[in-house]
Amino acid sequence: MSIEWKITRNQKPMPAADREAVLEAPVFGAVRTDHQVVCVWEQGKGWTSAEVIPYGPILMDPAAAVLHYGQEIFEGIKGYRHADGSIWTFRPFENAKRLQRSAKRMALPEVPVEMFVESLVKLMEVDGDWVPAPVNEKTLYFRPFEIAAEDFLGVRPAHRAEYRVIASPVGPYFTGGIKPVKIWIALDSARAGRHGTGEAKTGGNYAASLQAQTEGYEQGCSQVMFLDAETATYIEELGGMNLFFVFKDGHVATPSLDGTILHGITRDSVIQLIKDRGIEVQERKITLDEMRDGINSGEIVEAFACGTAAVITPVGQFLSKNETIGSADAEPGQLTVSLREELTGIQYGTVEDRHNWLYKLA
Ligand SMILES: *Cc1c(COP(=O)(O)O)cnc(C)c1O
Repeated sequence: MSIEWKITRNQKPMPAADREAVLEAPVFGAVRTDHQVVCVWEQGKGWTSAEVIPYGPILMDPAAAVLHYGQEIFEGIKGYRHADGSIWTFRPFENAKRLQRSAKRMALPEVPVEMFVESLVKLMEVDGDWVPAPVNEKTLYFRPFEIAAEDFLGVRPAHRAEYRVIASPVGPYFTGGIKPVKIWIALDSARAGRHGTGEAKTGGNYAASLQAQTEGYEQGCSQVMFLDAETATYIEELGGMNLFFVFKDGHVATPSLDGTILHGITRDSVIQLIKDRGIEVQERKITLDEMRDGINSGEIVEAFACGTAAVITPVGQFLSKNETIGSADAEPGQLTVSLREELTGIQYGTVEDRHNWLYKLA
């Protein structure tokens, strides 16, 4: 049985002129829209309500499980305005399925796929005006998330959970245009261990990444690259993005998904777009040594990171406490730039959507 949605409009939405000012130059995550989605799950009953309500704080008991044991998962997905005014999103069924896999790992109830997709549609019924015009890579970033909301201090999966969606207009993730970024190599901290939660999109993985990120910021790096937790030999991914390397002979390689790496939907899409061009993509183990030697010898000619928030971002340099790899004034790679244009073109509806990745929200 599908659930009945209830919509309660915000009686004090942001005035249109103020909203338009925000949409002129949105700062990632800084301002949220006028509404939010909230769906409730209870043990023994299942999903009992699905609502769109005015944006506002969550009233929560201090004993709520999420605040103590970290049962939290999330997604990141964008809304794109097309030239005709319509609003689309990108591969939402993949995000819905990933949220379910994250839920399983973190012992939270699974949000039904239809409910996930419908939650974006319903939010767009009331907050559609918040999707910026398709210029300067502006989009509306959706943040669906699920939390353990039972007030009980015992350690077990919570008997009450909430699925929520908030949304924030965003511009380019990295200010400063598509300039190659510097990456800090974390040598003293890992984000995910074997049989751990690395494949789940969960807040705890991000909490585990922040110490290294702070170190990285101090060294002028905008992201952190993590190595495998056991041997610190193999490249895994960044705190919130997957990595790719382009080789001189044309082929591309990316670390294989061995249980500790997040299954990025951008990663999957990029692999498809590269294959569509007849270029070989290897999903395999890549060591830090191979990367260093490859960049130093010119065998590796481009490196880029990808994820929903930052799309595709060229990487110029890798730094650690021991070394500097690559050059500070590297230019964005050719394949990097052209994949980026193709992917954003598909998302904004200006390049043919060969794989039916787009889904109309409004
Ligand atoms: C979200 C995320 C990514 C990117 O996934 P997309 O589906 O492409 O947005 C990569 N790594 C981590 C750790 C993430 O949390």
